[in-house]
Amino acid sequence: MPTVAQSTETDWVSRFADEVIAEAERRAPGTAKSGAGAPGIVCASGLSPSGPIHLGNLREVMTPHLVADEIRRRGYECVHIVSWDDYDRYRKVPAGIDPSWAEHIGKPLTSVPAPPGSSYPNWAEHFKAPMIKALEEMGIEFHGISQTEKYTSGAYREQILHAMRHREQIDAVLDRYRTKDKAGAKKPAKQQKPVDEAELEAAEGSGAASEDDGSAGGAGYYPYKPYCSVCERDLTTVTSYDDETTEMAYTCACGHGETVLLREHDRGKLVWKVDWPMRWAYEGVVFEPSGVDHSSPGSSYVVGGQIVREVFGGEQPIGPMYAFVGISGMAKMSSSKGGVPTPADALEIMEAPLLRWLYARRRPNQSFKIAFDQEIQRTYDEWDALERKITEGTAQPADAAAYSRATRTAAGELPRTPRPLPYRMLASVVDITTGHDEQTLRILSELDPDNPVKSLDETRPRLDRAERWINTQVPADQRTRVREEPDTELLASLGETERESLRLLLEGLDTHWSLDGLTTLVYGVPKLQAGFAADAKPTPELKVAQRAFFALLYRLLVGRDTGPRLPTLLLAVGADRVRKLLAA
Ligand SMILES: [Zn+2]
Repeated sequence: MPTVAQSTETDWVSRFADEVIAEAERRAPGTAKSGAGAPGIVCASGLSPSGPIHLGNLREVMTPHLVADEIRRRGYECVHIVSWDDYDRYRKVPAGIDPSWAEHIGKPLTSVPAPPGSSYPNWAEHFKAPMIKALEEMGIEFHGISQTEKYTSGAYREQILHAMRHREQIDAVLDRYRTKDKAGAKKPAKQQKPVDEAELEAAEGSGAASEDDGSAGGAGYYPYKPYCSVCERDLTTVTSYDDETTEMAYTCACGHGETVLLREHDRGKLVWKVDWPMRWAYEGVVFEPSGVDHSSPGSSYVVGGQIVREVFGGEQPIGPMYAFVGISGMAKMSSSKGGVPTPADALEIMEAPLLRWLYARRRPNQSFKIAFDQEIQRTYDEWDALERKITEGTAQPADAAAYSRATRTAAGELPRTPRPLPYRMLASVVDITTGHDEQTLRILSELDPDNPVKSLDETRPRLDRAERWINTQVPADQRTRVREEPDTELLASLGETERESLRLLLEGLDTHWSLDGLTTLVYGVPKLQAGFAADAKPTPELKVAQRAFFALLYRLLVGRDTGPRLPTLLLAVGADRVRKLLAA
């Protein structure tokens, strides 16, 4: 099995792996290598299941995944933590959900009922489940940690008491930035958000800032926020705290107020800017990326770096900022789900290795788009071209590395389509057959008569992805509709040259009935008419003639000037129907 494991400096993943291994060795010499019971090097991601997890946020997971996988390929122990920020407060009711869910705003995400009709026990689980399934399909090996579980089990008890004891110190660190960058003090969530949502939150103003770092209380600064024991919401204010006894008094907007012992209290959490660095220290995280919105001076990554060192005696992870991942052409049809494309949506229209490749081939600081529109066909063409180069041994090292990261992990190969026919062609075929299996098999078996497709299973799952794409992402007006009856009016209006071209095409159909054969035929007819040999190089005049001929065929077959590639279209329409529609 070819591997990029030993060759460092091949690509960005290798460079980060070098850095992370060196950093782990620096922190604890000798412990990076696999050892009995050693937890290994820790890479981390954080995801908030506050709603559908946006496809763009897959970068939060893919970046450490690829680095962790490279570290494993080199024979080191490595764990990739996916931290579910499911103990965060419920902030707002997303579009498409019963507005009465607003009564839950302020509760932990795991205390909010799942959306109506869900089989999951709560809001967070409902949105985690499809993400977990997608990550598994993508071959991403991770250790999920529920922050609800951690906080409510008292796992962070010592860290919370420690933070409260050092609240003045924390307040001082935060204060260095409060005046400098008010806007950067809010929690833009660790992941990126669709722009409109980010703007919405920015508009919330300073309220979000206080929620984020725990400032604003009149009775001094406290980095811990209890969830009210009566209404479950975090509309609470800590009014006093005693370091000796750990007695903490709080009041809530609901009118409730009580005094609890913090050393026994498990219904609250550290504010985000303290929570994150606390966990870096607690888990010993060496690598954790975050969205570019964390590059501002007062961002949680920058502030966290100081808090983890000065308060928790830990270290900041290597933390590249990753750029925005956009989506092109997500069809309107998904707006019932809030219009948010998720990794699961992407995996319905593309295979897992292709999706992995999109992330592997770009450095984290490069933004890119994932195509849901016609561009997906070009993406697949590029992917197939790379695969051919890999087979021929002519790929550049960085391209070969990206390919390797896309198609396999340290644990093994990802499932693949046994016979990966061009996506573009599969899409055209299912477009024309409207997914009729028998017709689809007939067409695919005729592509290459010397080596016919014998069963659709050979072409799956790619065939299913292409079919899903046609059915969910291609607007009705872009679908191909083969004419039922000949366009007699157009046929009657044709001149002698055009009639001749159709006759030459029809004469050649039987002997050219394969993808290659029909390609030769449709390009060859105009050549023949112009007196060129079939293998002649095209001249500008010839190209014009070819274009005119193709346009004529499209109009007669599908009633438009363009359509799927002609050889595919002819095969899909079938010889009998082609004859019927083109007989002048
Ligand atoms: Zn309350």
